[in-house]
Amino acid sequence: MEDIVFISDLHLAPQRPQIIELFIRFADEIAADADALYILGDFLEYWLGDDDPAPSLAPVFDKLIELDEKHGTKIFLMHGNRDFLIGNKLAERCHFTLIDDAYRIKIHDNDALLMHGDTLCTDDIEYQKFRQMVRSPQWKQDILSKSLEERIQIAKSLREKSKQSTTEKEENIMDVNQDATDHVFTDNNVDLLIHGHTHRPAIHHKKINNRDTTRIVLGDWYKTGSYLRINDDSDFRLQSYH
Ligand code: MN
Repeated sequence: MEDIVFISDLHLAPQRPQIIELFIRFADEIAADADALYILGDFLEYWLGDDDPAPSLAPVFDKLIELDEKHGTKIFLMHGNRDFLIGNKLAERCHFTLIDDAYRIKIHDNDALLMHGDTLCTDDIEYQKFRQMVRSPQWKQDILSKSLEERIQIAKSLREKSKQSTTEKEENIMDVNQDATDHVFTDNNVDLLIHGHTHRPAIHHKKINNRDTTRIVLGDWYKTGSYLRINDDSDFRLQSYH
């Protein structure tokens, strides 16, 4: 089978230049050898619209182009809760394909499901309400019709709000809901689910309705990098990248 690399939750931002550096090295050392790179959400800490020239992220965007043009690595990107305003213009500019959440792929001849993971956190009712609002086509259209300066202000106030409520929330409501997660396997008829978002990297094996399921949670890129590589000669293994 193909050699596939999965990452998520890099939260790339000009405020954390060392992680931008780390990703660029990762692209050269790891992703360049892969057939495909799947980015399962929150690649960027925030994105205010494809009309933002975002010069501080140019080295990242150039690296994506290089992965495609020079190394033939196909890049697939899924929205996260931070960067869901990434659109087709940026996809064209950076040579990646935007994929839906959830997205079905074949791994070792079996269907597997890829998700960002925020939709699994159903105990966080306040967040799910917020998500429903900001993901509506109407909200997106409204926000993108505002000036970039206005959008920067709105994003700032949303971030402040989210910071406040996150510190008030209990740890366990920030994790996936077990029932909702079990249902993903049975509803979609898959035994393998790969997602990020919770920043709790792990490989969970669980028997659900007689299915032997595997749920791989990708890690974030705060202290180190984190990735999953799947090819013919390796078992599922989460690896950190320094
Ligand atoms: Mn997330």
